[in-house]
Amino acid sequence: MSDSSRTTDRTPNRTSERRRRRPQHSRGNGTAGAPRRGPAPEPTVKTELDRLLDDAQNAPAPDIASFAETGLPTPLVEALAAQGMKKPFAIQARTLPDALAGRDILGRAQTGSGKTLGFGLPMLARLSGGKRASGTPRGLVLVPTRELAKQVADALTVLGGPVGVRIATVFGGAPINRQISDLQRGVDMVVATPGRLIDLMNRRAVTLEQVRITVLDEADYMADLGFLPAVTRIMDATPDGGQRMLFSATLDRGVDRLVARYLTDPSVHAVAPAASPVESMDHKVFTVQSEHKVAVAAEVAARPGRTLFFVRTKHGADRLAKQLERQGVEAATIHGNLGQNARQRALDAFTSGRPRVLVATDVAARGIHVDDVDLVVHFDPPNDHKDYLNRSGRTARAGTSGTVVALVQPEQARGMSRLHREARVVADVTVVHPGHDAVREIATSGTPVVIRPLQRPDRSTRPAGRGGPNRSSKGRRQTAADRGRRR
Ligand code: AMP
Repeated sequence: MSDSSRTTDRTPNRTSERRRRRPQHSRGNGTAGAPRRGPAPEPTVKTELDRLLDDAQNAPAPDIASFAETGLPTPLVEALAAQGMKKPFAIQARTLPDALAGRDILGRAQTGSGKTLGFGLPMLARLSGGKRASGTPRGLVLVPTRELAKQVADALTVLGGPVGVRIATVFGGAPINRQISDLQRGVDMVVATPGRLIDLMNRRAVTLEQVRITVLDEADYMADLGFLPAVTRIMDATPDGGQRMLFSATLDRGVDRLVARYLTDPSVHAVAPAASPVESMDHKVFTVQSEHKVAVAAEVAARPGRTLFFVRTKHGADRLAKQLERQGVEAATIHGNLGQNARQRALDAFTSGRPRVLVATDVAARGIHVDDVDLVVHFDPPNDHKDYLNRSGRTARAGTSGTVVALVQPEQARGMSRLHREARVVADVTVVHPGHDAVREIATSGTPVVIRPLQRPDRSTRPAGRGGPNRSSKGRRQTAADRGRRR
């Protein structure tokens, strides 16, 4: 966390003003009167919000047959159609009417569900036609990682053009001066990670005084990464009374406090995870002696489908990629020690199908959407059942099925079985060795990857100059807030 953000976990006057205006709980119509802070015990707050989200998820989705019916501006509907998108996904059908009307939104939906457009389309529609000024966005999307920032900005930029909404991206690990000049050219919306945005606020390269729509995406992940003080500071810098949308998979770890503090009478929307682990994934445990683990991993990695390996540490990621390569399997790596450019290159290469294997730390487990990953391998055990589900959720996306394999040494078996129980997952356990039938079966499984042309890197992913992975173009180290808690 940058020094300036560390001191900001306070309640400024205008926040107390928001609290005074906030209505009490209202239970009908998918509406949550945000709970009052103070005497209410925290577990009750969580339970109540969770219950509202569960109710919202169980409520029938509005029957909206096409984007044209939603009241979106015609150029936006046409731009969507040009991309083959005609009918809103469930989360979009749920959020669009309220979000277009300017309501605050509390949403529970995962990456892959279409939530980017769930919040992005109303933003584009509402910001369209407004006055653009230098360094003064009117829309702000806060996301936990650089990859997600780029992904969200890419998705919205193609649609922003036709309605005259200019989007700038702000994240650490990329040259700050380029971001400053982008902001100076005039901007309607900024997609940002918290640390770099605070740097830019401190340099007065950007002011949030005119922000009228703010989105907090993957709020629980931001909490995990220690971003909440930075998020609080940023939210406090946006004017009171604007529209706010918060999306989170869970409401613990302080997310409920963000909801209470910053959302006013939100409408609550939820969709079931795009891929339910129990229903659409096949969970397996391969118990293997430690001396055979790499050989089994290499055999599995040589399969024709796309495979994502998860390891615990950055060094572990590099080591496994080298070990696989020694066995003839090419693998890309993605972890927190790599600069933005290298991380994006790895992700682009994996998406394009060359190589078919990506070795990642948990930094890649959330928020990143890569199609057609039909096998996730937990090479190292995850920290807890949530990480297990997040990692595993990179497969079986958008209604497809997938396989999840945990490679477990005998002494880790008991911990893994507890973790499966907590994740409510039933897994087949097999004691294997290299060449074992169960290993062969996985090694020959998967849809053969069709290699797609690599996308040309855009402006925001050009090399960061001589700065190196953790440095800005001026050689200044990134703030801790930008890096988050790297794994
Ligand atoms: P997201 O969860 O926002 O990352 O979206 C996941 C994927 O679904 C992206 O590749 C989107 O382009 C795609 N997508 C989102 N909404 C629609 C839609 N209404 N119709 C077709 N594809 C969509």
